[in-house]
Amino acid sequence: MITGLPYRPCPLILAAPSGTGKTTIAHALVERFARFVFSVSATTRPPRGDESDGVDYDFVSREAFEAMIEGGELLEWAEVHGNLYGTPRRNLEAAAARGEHVVLDIDVQGARQLRERAPEAVLIFVFPPSASALWGRLTARGTEAMDEVRRRLAAAQDELAEARHFDYIVVNDDLDRAISRVRAIVEAESHRPSRALDLEGELVRLRGQIDDVMRKAGA
Ligand code: 5GP
Repeated sequence: MITGLPYRPCPLILAAPSGTGKTTIAHALVERFARFVFSVSATTRPPRGDESDGVDYDFVSREAFEAMIEGGELLEWAEVHGNLYGTPRRNLEAAAARGEHVVLDIDVQGARQLRERAPEAVLIFVFPPSASALWGRLTARGTEAMDEVRRRLAAAQDELAEARHFDYIVVNDDLDRAISRVRAIVEAESHRPSRALDLEGELVRLRGQIDDVMRKAGA
């Protein structure tokens, strides 16, 4: 008996305007569910608050980042709010080899690049439930100056226009509900025929078994 076909895992790309809570969703997926792993990006931004190197980001110098670009180590990269951010190619390769869903918390420009470079990826755009919630989250951090908050809200206007090019939109009105929605998307995606590891082999087996059943029944 089979209960599900072995499948290739999906790289999961979460993009959203800053302050939407996508980083919280990404980390919660990894903490709550087996087979989910966080893609640690490289960045030239200095660490904030309790962020640690190698966990939240690989914090690198601009020279080191440029060397990574030169060496073809980054699958995508972008300049966001004056700093460079990029996804190491090996993050996706390692996750695929281990059969894990790799979760990328990246900006909209990066997501657009991955649409072509990682066609197997599932792109989810996270919406804030309202403009006031976005404002509340950006100012509650306390780490951003008011000018920066304004800059991020202006950027959100442009970023939202990209949502229609994503595979799914999830509203982060409530963290648990948003996580359940993302989990449901991954569950459904894992049942696509194109993600089955050996669909042809499975079809041959099942059809052979049907022949056997028919033979035994004298049909
Ligand atoms: P923050 O500095 O607030 O951690 O991140 C700023 C923005 O950069 C966020 O939208 C975040 O998702 C995005 N970001 C983080 N890592 C990457 C990455 O590897 N590539 C791209 N393109 N954006 C990233």
